[in-house]
Amino acid sequence: MGNMNEEATEEKEVVSRNFIQNIIDQDLAEGKYEKIVTRFPPEPNGYLHIGHAKSIILNSGLAEEYGGDFHLRFDDTNPTKEKSEFVNSILEDVKWICGDLDQEKVFYASDYFDQMYEYAVKLIKKGKAFVCDLSAEEMREYRGTLKEPGKNSPYRDRTAEENLDLFERMRAGEFEDGSKVLRAKIDMASPNMNMRDPVLYRVARMHHHNTGDKWCIYPMYDFAHPIEDAIEGVTHSICTLEFEDHRPLYDWVVRECEFEHPPKQIEFAKLYLTNVVTGKRYIKKLVEDGIVDGWDDPRMVSIAALRRRGFTPESIRRFMELSGVSKANSSSDYAMLEYCIREDLKLKRPRMMAITDPVKLVITNYPESEIEYLDVSNNQENEEMGTRKVPFGRVLYIERDDFMIEPPKKYFRLFPGNEVRLMNAYFVTCTDYVTDEDGNVTEVHCTYDPETKSGSGFNARKVKGTIHWVLADTAKKAEIRLYENIVDEEKGVYNEDGTINVNPNSLVVKESFVEPALAEAEPGESFQFVRQGYFVVDTKDSTKEHPVFNRIVSMKSSYRPK
Ligand code: ATP
Ligand code: MG
Repeated sequence: MGNMNEEATEEKEVVSRNFIQNIIDQDLAEGKYEKIVTRFPPEPNGYLHIGHAKSIILNSGLAEEYGGDFHLRFDDTNPTKEKSEFVNSILEDVKWICGDLDQEKVFYASDYFDQMYEYAVKLIKKGKAFVCDLSAEEMREYRGTLKEPGKNSPYRDRTAEENLDLFERMRAGEFEDGSKVLRAKIDMASPNMNMRDPVLYRVARMHHHNTGDKWCIYPMYDFAHPIEDAIEGVTHSICTLEFEDHRPLYDWVVRECEFEHPPKQIEFAKLYLTNVVTGKRYIKKLVEDGIVDGWDDPRMVSIAALRRRGFTPESIRRFMELSGVSKANSSSDYAMLEYCIREDLKLKRPRMMAITDPVKLVITNYPESEIEYLDVSNNQENEEMGTRKVPFGRVLYIERDDFMIEPPKKYFRLFPGNEVRLMNAYFVTCTDYVTDEDGNVTEVHCTYDPETKSGSGFNARKVKGTIHWVLADTAKKAEIRLYENIVDEEKGVYNEDGTINVNPNSLVVKESFVEPALAEAEPGESFQFVRQGYFVVDTKDSTKEHPVFNRIVSMKSSYRPK
C-alpha cells in the first residue's frame, strides 16, 4: 500500500496548474485576500449531474488546496421552479462527492432577501436604480439590438424619493405582478446588452419554499448572485463561460453596493461528455417521458445515477483531474470515466465468479455428491485482500459462449476434445455434450485431471484457455443488469425532431448465477466479476432473496491514458 501512495503523489506533481490556480496564486502574492473562499451555487430545480460534479470538485478542491472555505449555497431566489426534494438530493450528492460537508458552510440565498432589499434601496438613494413602468414588451423595444443602442426609459429620471416610495410600495404589494420593476441605471447604449439598465427586482406573487409568502418582489439572478457572494465573503466566484458577458454587471453590482472586499468572477468551460446527455433539462425529459427509472437510473450521469451505478467519488475526482480546467469548450470521453473507475476498483475489490448466460458443465469422473472447498485468492494483484473458500463439485455452470461445438480458429475455450483450465480449480477435457430438439446445447460433459489442481504446482503441461464457473448446487440466483449508453452513439444524441435517440439495448437483464458468498453482499458493495467487469449491488431493487447487480463497467477498455 505504501507503494501506491507514492505513485499517487508522483502522478499529482505531473499535473500542471490550471489558469484559476494561477489567478489565485497571483492574488495571494499581491496580498489581495487573506483567505480563499469558493462556493458551489446550484439552483434547486433538478438533480445534479456530472457537470456539477466538476464545479463541486473544482471549488472544494481550491478551498482545500489554499486552506480556505468552500460554501454550498442554494441559489433559491426563483421560487417557481424550486422544490425541497431537490435541496435534499443536492445535499446528499455534494456530501458524497466531497466526503463530507460542514453544515455551517451550507447557505441559502433566500436568507439574504432582506439584505438584498437594503442594497436595492442603497442603489436607489445613490441614483443608480429606478422604478420603471414599461411593460415587458415596451422594455424589449426600448432595449435596442446588438447593432443599435437602446433608448432611455421615460421613467429613468424619477427622483430618488419617488423611486424609494414606489419600491417600498412594490414590496408592500400595491402593484400587480409584472406592472413595475426596479432597474439599474447604467447605460442604454452599452454594446453589452446586459448593461442596458437591467432589471433588478420584479413583482411576482409566488410562494417560496423558504420564505413562504413574505415577499411579493424577487431579485433577478444578476443582481442577487454577486450580493450573495459578497455577503458570504466569497473571494473567487467561479462559474461557467455563459456568464462571461454578465461579468461587467457583476462587477457593477459589487462596486455600486460598495462591498469592502468585492468577489471576483472567473469563468471556465463546462464539462461535456461526448454522446452523453448531461443537461438538467434533458435528464428531466428522460425522467418525465418514463424512458428511465427515475433520476437515479444507472444509465444516466446524474450524480445519484453514477452513485447507484457504482462509481466512486475517487473515480469521479480522478476523471476531473484528467479532463482538466480550461477556458475552451471541449468534450471528454465517457471511456475515460470508465478507465478511472476500473483503476480505482482494481486493487480494492474482490474478484468473484458469476455466470450471466449459464450452461451446465458435468464433470463425469468427479464423485457424485462430493463438494470440496478451494482456497481462492480474493485479488491476485493485492494479496492483502486474503483468500476465500469456493465450493467445487461435479455439476457447474459456465458461460454458454465458453463452449462451441465447432470452434473457429484461435478459439481456445471448450470444444469437444479440448482441455482448458477451470479458473482456481482443475484442468478439464471436453468429452461430450447434450442438445435439445432445437439443437441448443443443454449440457457439456468433461473429465477432470485431479493432478492439475490450482496452486498444486502442477506444470507438466499447459493449456491455452481459462474459463470461470460456479458450482450449480450452491450458486445463488441473481439478476445482473448490463448497461449501455442511453443514447444511440452511432446516430448521435438527438433525432432531427429534437427528441432523444434512445438506445434500445441500453438495459439488458440477465438471470444469472453467482458464487454463494455474494448472497451476503450489501447494497452499494461492489466486486469484480472475473472476465466480465465491475458490478455493484443495486441500492434500490436488490434484496437478500433476489440480489440485483449493476454492471459498472466491463473489463474491456477503449481508453489509453496518455
Ligand atoms: P444545466 O446546464 O445542466 O441546466 P445549470 O447550469 O442550470 O445546469 P445550476 O444549478 O445553475 O445548473 O448550476 C450550478 C453550478 O454548476 C453553476 O455554477 C454552473 O456553472 C455549474 N455547472 C453546471 N453545468 C456544468 C457543467 N457541465 N460543467 C461544469 N460546471 C457546470
Ligand atoms: Mg442554471
